[in-house]
Amino acid sequence: MKVLVVGGAGYIGSHCVRQLQAAGHEPVVLDNLVFGHRSAVAEDVPFYDCDLGDPEVVGKILKEEQIELVMHFAAFAYVGESVTEPRKYYENNFVATLRLLETMIDNGVKKFVFSSTCATYGEPESLPIVETLRQSPINPYGQTKLDVENCLKAFAHAYGLSFAAFRYFNAAGAAEDGTIGEDHNPETHLIPLVIDAATGKRENIKIFGTDYDTPDGTCLRDYVHVDDLSRAHIAVFDKLAEPGAGYFYNLGTGTPNSVREIINAVEAVTGLKVPVVEDERRAGDPPALFADSSKAQQELGWEIKYKDVKDIIATAWRWHQSHPKGYED
Ligand code: UDP
Repeated sequence: MKVLVVGGAGYIGSHCVRQLQAAGHEPVVLDNLVFGHRSAVAEDVPFYDCDLGDPEVVGKILKEEQIELVMHFAAFAYVGESVTEPRKYYENNFVATLRLLETMIDNGVKKFVFSSTCATYGEPESLPIVETLRQSPINPYGQTKLDVENCLKAFAHAYGLSFAAFRYFNAAGAAEDGTIGEDHNPETHLIPLVIDAATGKRENIKIFGTDYDTPDGTCLRDYVHVDDLSRAHIAVFDKLAEPGAGYFYNLGTGTPNSVREIINAVEAVTGLKVPVVEDERRAGDPPALFADSSKAQQELGWEIKYKDVKDIIATAWRWHQSHPKGYED
C-alpha cells in the first residue's frame, strides 16, 4: 500500500515509517519539520517539507504519489501549552486536520489512520479504560483530538471515509537498533527526563506529586513501546477496505507503572543513580491511567512485544547512548 505519513519525521510517525517499510508498504512522508527531524526518515523515503493544511500542495502529493491511505501523526502535544495557548491547538490539531481530510475526500483518498490519545477520556470513570467509557477531556489538547474523532465519524457516514483512531497511552522507547528515538524540544516526558537525570544532563528528576491515592503515592501510567504502537497502525489496514467503516482502539500494555517504579527501572537498566526531588502535583494529572487494549488484541491480532517497562527503557537507553544530543537536525 502507498501510504502518506503526515508527521512522519516525528517521534511516533518516524517509527511507523520504518514499520511500514519492514512490512513491504511504500511510505511517503509529509512533515513541516517544526517538531520533526529530517534525519529521522531514511533518504530513500520520498519526503515533502510542507504543511498538512495546504490543500493545493497536499492534493498534488496525493495525486502524484498515488496515495491510497493517509496516516496522521502531526499535532501539537504539550498539554500545559494547550491550556495557555488553545488557539494554536485548535488551529494545528483540528483546523489543519479538517483541511487534510477535505483534501483527501476531494482527491478520492478515503482511508485514514489517526493518532488519538487517552487524554480524550479526561479523568476516567473506571479502570482499566475501555473504549466505550465516557470521553470528557480536561484540556484543549484532549478536546481537539476528540473533536477530530467526532469529525471522522461524520465523514465516514457522509463521504464513505474509512478510518481507525488509536488512543495512545504513554508512548515510550526507541527502535531496537537505536537509530531513531525520542527527541522532543522541550522534553516533558518522564522516561527521557529520568534518563537525563541519570546521566547528569539534568540535575535531578522532580516527582510531580507523592500524595496520590496509589500504592506508592505517585501517578500510575501505561507505558507502551513506540514500535508496538506502530504495528497496530498497519494491522488495521485490512479493516479499512470497507467504505464508511470506523474503528476506535486503545493502545496500551494494560500494566500500570508508577513514577517511582520508572525511576527504579531506569536505575536498574542504566546502572546509574537517579537524583530525585519530590515536588508538588502537576495541574491536570489524573492519579492513574491505564488501558484495556483487548479490543485491539482481539480484532487486529495486535501483539504487545514489550510487556515489561524495563525492556522499553532499555531501547530508550540504547538510543540515548548512541545519540546523547538527540538528532543532529
Ligand atoms: N512526571 C514527573 N516528573 C516529570 C515529568 C513527568 O513526575 O518531570 C510524571 C507526570 O506527573 C505523570 C507521569 O510522570 O504522572 C508521566 O508524565 P508524562 O508527561 O511523561 O506523560 P503524561 O502521562 O502526562 O501524558
